[in-house]
Order: sequence, then C-alpha cells, then structure tokens
Amino acid sequence: MTIIPEYDMHVHTVLCGHAHESATIERLAAHADVLEMKLLCFSEHVHGPESLSHLEHIRKVVEAIQPACRCRLVVGAEVDVDPDHCDGRLVVPPPDYVEFVIGSLHFLPGTHLLPPWDPVPVEMSPEKIFQDWSNSFMGLTFNRRVNMIGHPGALIFNAVGPEYHSRIMRVMADAAKISAIRGQAWDFNNLIFAKLNDTCRGLYWQVMQLARDAGVKLLYGSDTHNIASLGKYPDIESAMPHIHGFTLEELLKLPDWLAEKFNINNCDKKNI
Ligand SMILES: [Zn+2]
Ligand SMILES: [Zn+2]
Repeated sequence: MTIIPEYDMHVHTVLCGHAHESATIERLAAHADVLEMKLLCFSEHVHGPESLSHLEHIRKVVEAIQPACRCRLVVGAEVDVDPDHCDGRLVVPPPDYVEFVIGSLHFLPGTHLLPPWDPVPVEMSPEKIFQDWSNSFMGLTFNRRVNMIGHPGALIFNAVGPEYHSRIMRVMADAAKISAIRGQAWDFNNLIFAKLNDTCRGLYWQVMQLARDAGVKLLYGSDTHNIASLGKYPDIESAMPHIHGFTLEELLKLPDWLAEKFNINNCDKKNI
C-alpha cells in the first residue's frame, strides 16, 4: 500500500527559475489538499539578497490562499551556506517571517560551482575542499537560524573521491551529535539520490542511519520542482530497507513536535 506523506518540508516553486511550470504556489497547495497533507513547507532557494523578493511573494500568496486550504502552508526557505566563509553562515539572513529555514551546502567552497553539474577544477585540492566542507558543515550545526540541514552530504560526495568517504562519515557523526542536542533536523531528501554517483547512492542510507542513531530528527523532503513529485519518495523507499530502527511510516507521519511548532491539530481523525 502506498503511504501518502502527512507533510513535506522541502518544496520548490516556479520562482526559483529551474522548476517545472506546474509548480506554482497555488497548484502545489491545492495538490497538498488533494493528498490530504497536514503541512506543506515552501522552501524556495535563497542564493543572496536578490532572492528575498521571492520569499516575500510566497508570504503574500500563502496569506491569501491559506484560509481556503486545509493543509497548513509554511513559508520556509532553503538558504545557501555562504561559500566564501567556511563557517556555516548563510549567504543572507532570512527575514523573521520565514518560519522554517533549511541551510544547504550547494556550492564548492570559495566558488559558485555546483557539483555534479559543474566539474571540480583540477587545480583545486581535494584535501582543502574536504577541510572547507567540514568546517562549513560543522558550522551549520551551530547556526541558530537553521531548523534543518538540507540534503546532508550532497555537495561533498560529489566533490571528492571515495578515499574520503570514511572521513566524511566521521564529520557527519560529530555533526549529528550537535544537531541532536540542539533539536536541529536533517533532511531525508528524495532528490539527493538522483544527484549522487552510483557508489554514493548505494551507501547514502548510512548517513541517515548515523543521524538517526545519534538522535537527530529526520524529516521527509521531496525537494520537488514540479507538481507530479510532491509527496513522492521512490528513492527514499529503496534506501529504507537498509535502515534499522526507523520505518517509512515513521518518516512520513507528521511528528508531534512539528505539529506543535506550527499549531496543527495532529490528532488522528479516526480516534476522535
Ligand atoms: Zn532547485
Ligand atoms: Zn531544494
């Protein structure tokens, strides 16, 4: 039986410029209602101050359509970690009305190159890339504005070779301890699997396992850029059988703490 997720914390719209034309705020919200989702978080990309008008637009549209939607619509943002300062700071502080901030490492440290689409220049030292990533990732866990780390590991697995995998996992394990203490969630992202190479894709469940074992809250994110993928999770489902102590049902159910944060009545209707 296909489980419909009760929420989706990672959703893009046409405003980002690389989404399908179907991904309008109104259509995504209407589709979330059809799926009977309880929470939908619009988490548009923020690459710098120029992106802030997108958030303002989402805020206004959400305000206008929320009364007619059963699903709670959240104005979130997926903000880039600043590639010029490897300390986990965000490129721009999100405005106060942003209710849920995803901090994501997209760009190779010190550049605006986007692996795997932009190849890593040969003159860049993998050791330096690893160190800069490590400092950025650890910094992100301490960043108070960041509610969730977006697709953890996506950048680094595409930027350095397999000889770094065990060191990456050690950094992840340290970071997970801090996120767990701080109540910072990690993104169990469906789209990341398509971005990883074959080896990393097969091993990516280990990142989610170590986060889960450290006590990090894992949240489902489709990272969709179109209507059709909203609430879909084919690659997460493939990874799930490897993971111990955590089920797909648990991942896709709206956690009580999240419902509370956004004032959602999380009672199961069947029990009322
Ligand atoms: Zn995108
Ligand atoms: Zn995203």
